[in-house]
Amino acid sequence: MDYKFCSQCGSKLEEKLVDDKTRLQCPACGFVQYFNPVPAAAVTIIQDSQILLVQRAFEPRKGLWSLPAGFLEADETVEECAIREVKEETNLDVELTGLLNVYSVFDDPRYICLLVVYTGKILGSELKCGDDASDARFFSPSALPQIAWRVHRLAVELAFQREQGP
Ligand SMILES: [Zn+2]
Repeated sequence: MDYKFCSQCGSKLEEKLVDDKTRLQCPACGFVQYFNPVPAAAVTIIQDSQILLVQRAFEPRKGLWSLPAGFLEADETVEECAIREVKEETNLDVELTGLLNVYSVFDDPRYICLLVVYTGKILGSELKCGDDASDARFFSPSALPQIAWRVHRLAVELAFQREQGP
């Protein structure tokens, strides 16, 4: 997020007060470089009272675990992204069964994110971790591994609560 030049005309950006906030603005064409959260999607899949997690193969937080999740491409819907990420990271075909929650993510060093978390269930195929993950497996609530992101931990807790019912 270390922008130096205007993406419209290439001039050097300057710090300016815009809408009561210090932002990067182009003195030549007036373009304002806004910083907005990046949308991402995740899925909670609980089967036999265990939740599906994937182990991160890359930094940041390599070796820690998370829900199957990833960033939206510009040409897909949030739902399509969620289903695609599960397929890429676990090889499983899933259908989404509902919206679990929406979170703001402030502990990812790459981006500020807006994370949409769905509940899902497995339609088929064999569990096999993909390129982005070094392992994928199910965990019971009493034996969870170290989870990489704060809101993934919250989503895992909420998913188990929902699973147990009111
Ligand atoms: Zn410019």
